[in-house]
Amino acid sequence: MSMPIGKRAVVIGAGMGGLATARALADHFEQVIVLERDSLPADAVPRPGVPQSPQLHALLGGGQRALCELFPDFDVDLARAGAVPLRVGLDLRYDRPGYDPFPRRDLGWLTYAMSRPLIELTLRRRVEEHGNIKLRQRCRAREVLASPDGSAVTAVRYETADGKSDTIATNFVADASGHGSLTLGLLKSLGQELPEETKIGVDIGYASALFAIPPEGLSDWKGVAIFPSPPQVTRSCLMAPVEGNRWLVALCGRRGDWPPGDWDGFLAFAQGLRTPTLYDAIKDATRLGEVGRFGFSESMWRHFERLKAVPRGLLPIGDSICRFNPIYGQGMSVAAQEASLLHRMLRKRVADADPLGGLTEAFLTEAQALIEAPWAMSAIPDFVYPDTRGQRRRIWRMHLISQMLSCGSRPMIRRFTS
Ligand SMILES: Cc1cc2nc3c(=O)[nH]c(=O)nc-3n(C[C@H](O)[C@H](O)[C@H](O)COP(=O)(O)OP(=O)(O)OC[C@H]3O[C@@H](n4cnc5c(N)ncnc54)[C@H](O)[C@@H]3O)c2cc1C
Repeated sequence: MSMPIGKRAVVIGAGMGGLATARALADHFEQVIVLERDSLPADAVPRPGVPQSPQLHALLGGGQRALCELFPDFDVDLARAGAVPLRVGLDLRYDRPGYDPFPRRDLGWLTYAMSRPLIELTLRRRVEEHGNIKLRQRCRAREVLASPDGSAVTAVRYETADGKSDTIATNFVADASGHGSLTLGLLKSLGQELPEETKIGVDIGYASALFAIPPEGLSDWKGVAIFPSPPQVTRSCLMAPVEGNRWLVALCGRRGDWPPGDWDGFLAFAQGLRTPTLYDAIKDATRLGEVGRFGFSESMWRHFERLKAVPRGLLPIGDSICRFNPIYGQGMSVAAQEASLLHRMLRKRVADADPLGGLTEAFLTEAQALIEAPWAMSAIPDFVYPDTRGQRRRIWRMHLISQMLSCGSRPMIRRFTS
């Protein structure tokens, strides 16, 4: 470690954002304490603090790169842990309106498919290699405390599993809790302004289930995505291979047409997808475990970057800033990219007289720029549906039109552009 810029940093949450953030801070603080309310399992299994963990999670190329910046050869670790390499452009079949299937070609780089618990476990193992990062399990953060004038954070109060309350003194707190309520709680208690929120109401239902990959192999592809054809056909799916020679299948629907949680209903929903590719693949495959469901009502972006004041040393990150519609697979990647951004910013500031001065404001401004593109990439296809709630931004007009054209939806174009 170069000259430390602080004695102790506290990270709330040992999910994707929290683990990556702990790594970013470890080069610059003598000690990093991660408070996690869950027991952290020794195996790659879902846990209650991350209720979405049984659902299919795709790690995009940008997220993989960000994690490799923080943890060199992280992709090699994933492969060793059993993640399935996918040649981008070639190994997944895409059934999209007008292209069933979309032409495939090897674009020359690899991503990996695995369960969400496996990504997290692999990340946790790398974090545990850092002697100055301490993961404190079964510790629920209750409150972030600030100086009497509210200008800087001073401590985090937390509760252990046996109900004992304790406090850790710190001058830096990263809120990677996924919900950000402790950050909002602190701002409220100080009588400070709360961030404006941009919301996009989508009301989608998700269901994921595991299947054994049939030994005979079904095709020359390893997974499949079937796109909807809005506004009439709203069902979509993604099936990816995961560790243990399994397929993880996620079905998704809108407007109350949600995939059911029983096997017969799950298969019937799959049969109602726009093409039969998925149904044909899984109808005779061996089912493993149960179907897991998840409802998601709205994407939400908190504009912390617009606040006039944020207590020094308080830094929301990951879903605490922005929660994306999960269909587009952005959340983990953006959380990892934000942590990598923080890492670069801390490195640049290390020789400054006051490295933490203005750090949060600078980080939130850059994070806002980082979020813009993935937010638009999720918002535009969502706004193709007429019943999506929220504001269609004028700068997206051309993209919206081209999305609608690709779905052959001329009446909708008239409606949204008039
Ligand atoms: C159905 C679904 C599917 C998704 N699919 C994808 C996908 O394909 N690709 C993708 O990139 N993203 C996907 N996402 C989004 C992804 O799950 C999140 O964006 C990502 O996990 C955010 O990371 P985070 O660290 O901010 O929060 P999380 O990973 O949710 O971690 C928060 C952590 O904080 C802990 N915690 C909370 N409160 C406290 C407290 N008070 N004290 C201590 N600990 C606390 C929790 O237990 C948890 O461990 C999906 C989301 C959903 C809902």
